[in-house]
Amino acid sequence: MTDPANDVAANLAEIKTRIDRALAEGGRPAGTARLIAVSKVQPVAKLEAALAAGHRLFGENRVQEAKAKFPAARERYPDIELHLIGPLQTNKVKEAVALFDVIQTLDRPKLAAALAEEGRKRGRLPRLFVEVNVGDEPQKAGIAPADLSAFLAECRDVQGLTIDGLMCIPPADEEPAPHFALLCDLATRHGLAEVSMGMSGDFEKAVRMGASFVRVGTAIFGERIKPAAHA
Ligand SMILES: *Cc1c(COP(=O)(O)O)cnc(C)c1O
Repeated sequence: MTDPANDVAANLAEIKTRIDRALAEGGRPAGTARLIAVSKVQPVAKLEAALAAGHRLFGENRVQEAKAKFPAARERYPDIELHLIGPLQTNKVKEAVALFDVIQTLDRPKLAAALAEEGRKRGRLPRLFVEVNVGDEPQKAGIAPADLSAFLAECRDVQGLTIDGLMCIPPADEEPAPHFALLCDLATRHGLAEVSMGMSGDFEKAVRMGASFVRVGTAIFGERIKPAAHA
């Protein structure tokens, strides 16, 4: 039997090496793509193993689950950086703003309005990325590429929000490269510095193409014990 804690540490080290290599291959400076360890639905022991290995950047896709795990972890590791990478309901905005450093899934005007309102109350907001539905999939969350300019203008000019980046989840059954290229192009055209794309199966490609954040779960922690809920 291998020790799961050793596996997590070894996987993190290997993936960071592969990210560095992909950055070099893409002609990009070292350190310009960061690894988000997606800890959703994983046993707390594996989160602890990642923390013990020195990793501090995590992604969760549900507010309630993150709330159950991270406030306690933060007491011991105050430098944890936590990203919300799953859908956000407006009735969870208050909790999400209190808990997350970055919300990557701003995907509709009503949510922009709710975040702006909460920001006015608290005097601060997490960093915000807009989720783009790069494959124009009818069932998927995210702003259609054709609607992005208008949505960003609404966020900025109507709601007074600062948007720092874009994120995408390409269609599961398609080659991701054209979708990654589209997301980078949209970010460049709109002057947005952060690009969140690439998961366990394709993070190196995403890094070569310009990702500033990759979101990796199973390649670090192993298969999830139950499927993560999708809203
Ligand atoms: C679960 C999830 C990931 C991680 O997926 P893996 O294939 O396990 O690396 C990345 N991004 C989002 C939005 C997710 O929900």
